[in-house]
Amino acid sequence: MLRPFVTIALALAFAAPVTAQVGPVAVQPEVTPFKLGKLDLLALRDAAQNAPNDNKIFGVDQSPAAVDAVLAAAGAPTGQIALSVNVLLVRTGGHLVLIDTGYGAPRGIFAASLAKAGIAPAAITDILITHGHGDHVGGLASAEGASNFPKAVIHVAAKEWEAIKAAPANARLVAAIGAQVQAFEPGATVAPGITAVAIDGHTPGHSGYRISSAGKSLLAIGDSAHSYVISLAKPGWAMGFDRDRALGAASRTAMLANAAKSGELLFSPHFPYPGLGRAAVKGDGFVWVPVK
Ligand SMILES: [Zn+2]
Repeated sequence: MLRPFVTIALALAFAAPVTAQVGPVAVQPEVTPFKLGKLDLLALRDAAQNAPNDNKIFGVDQSPAAVDAVLAAAGAPTGQIALSVNVLLVRTGGHLVLIDTGYGAPRGIFAASLAKAGIAPAAITDILITHGHGDHVGGLASAEGASNFPKAVIHVAAKEWEAIKAAPANARLVAAIGAQVQAFEPGATVAPGITAVAIDGHTPGHSGYRISSAGKSLLAIGDSAHSYVISLAKPGWAMGFDRDRALGAASRTAMLANAAKSGELLFSPHFPYPGLGRAAVKGDGFVWVPVK
């Protein structure tokens, strides 16, 4: 006769309000090694934060109650949306490749995670940038305006690089890294076994990256999705950070549909660390299936 008690206890646990602080969340340096075909990869931790549920970022065309209902249905805390900041490192064909660089100091601890992995910044040969927002390019330069990865070629989609250069707020960053940037067109091979995949809508030249080895592949999705709950359950909902919200929603939905169909491994900079998993169809949306 234990079963009814267990059921009631679980029901009470899920009914109890789960609240969490909105804002930055302290994290420790973390390194997660994994294999993709014959390649060695590392997920690295930079930061974490809880975004407010105020319809300015998630579900901007919805109500906070509608967003909370989706969070609660997934068993996630309501009232805020958890976001991680993760970076990917790939060893391929003699190259040591980073995909994005997180916030960088002082907000992010990516440098400490890289040190924990035993990798010196000067050993990085290539950096693939998904887009020019601070939580992806912040780690490229120091507060004093020096390049943090002086030996690396920094690969950026041509349209994105033009947009980065056009923003006055990026002047210090552009001065620090400009000489290292190599702009590319969508679909380009940017490192051995790695191709750029345009996923439009978030920024002018937002790019994912597909890494392939020995019949396996991984798509680094950049900011085509942000919340492992909301972006998957409701991919068509407008996202406040998307420059073109309709295009961003269409790209997100198409990317997830392709990933659910192929079963391809995904890496997200903003899903729970280490950001690795697969998308599966659930109802009229998708669900995140993490891979540890
Ligand atoms: Zn981002």
